[in-house]
Amino acid sequence: MAAKKRSGGGKRAPTKLTEYRRKRDFTKTREPSGGAATAVRPARKKRAPTLRFVVQKHEASHLHFDFRLELDGVMKSWAVPKGPSYDPSVRRLAMEVEDHPIEYNKFEGTIPQGEYGGGTVMLWDRGTYEAEDGGGVEALREGYARGDLKFVLHGERLRGGWVLVRMKRPGRPQWLLIKHRDELAEKSRDVVEEETTSVATGRTMEEIARGARVARRGTRTAAKR
Ligand code: MN
Repeated sequence: MAAKKRSGGGKRAPTKLTEYRRKRDFTKTREPSGGAATAVRPARKKRAPTLRFVVQKHEASHLHFDFRLELDGVMKSWAVPKGPSYDPSVRRLAMEVEDHPIEYNKFEGTIPQGEYGGGTVMLWDRGTYEAEDGGGVEALREGYARGDLKFVLHGERLRGGWVLVRMKRPGRPQWLLIKHRDELAEKSRDVVEEETTSVATGRTMEEIARGARVARRGTRTAAKR
């Protein structure tokens, strides 16, 4: 089944990122175009691939958290206005947005005002994820298609079981992001309030916005330990 896709010589299917590219002017923004996309890791290995996730805090016209899950060569993406919550009784609105390139996982910085998404982007969390039932990529594809995507996150700040449930509403797909009731669930834990710096650079939104130099490990980080 992968035979047809192989003919691209390692390039990712271009159609998936069409909307992403149409919205952006890559001569003006430093976001990745996703153009030079060859596999970042060896694609031939038989064992199940490690799938990545990232959460970016994005101060644009409205503050929101971009929640992205790697699936089939792109980052499936949702804008979560209030961000994730560890409280399993809390359902956070997650508006599905266009697929992003895998390289977006490394993006932190500013998008010029006037450009799409103009504002500040922080790498708020990152790690790997997997299907909750152990069913691998097939289970994730199937869950995404069905609008009931159950997964386990192995991030620095987000861990344990979560679900994205698609609501039956007309128009652009809207989902709910909900923490599962597991040993990591914590009533009234506001992780968005607790964690206000970049997982990649330790910078605050304000420091990213003014282009502050990345603190070297052992300086800024030392104060935390
Ligand atoms: Mn965004």
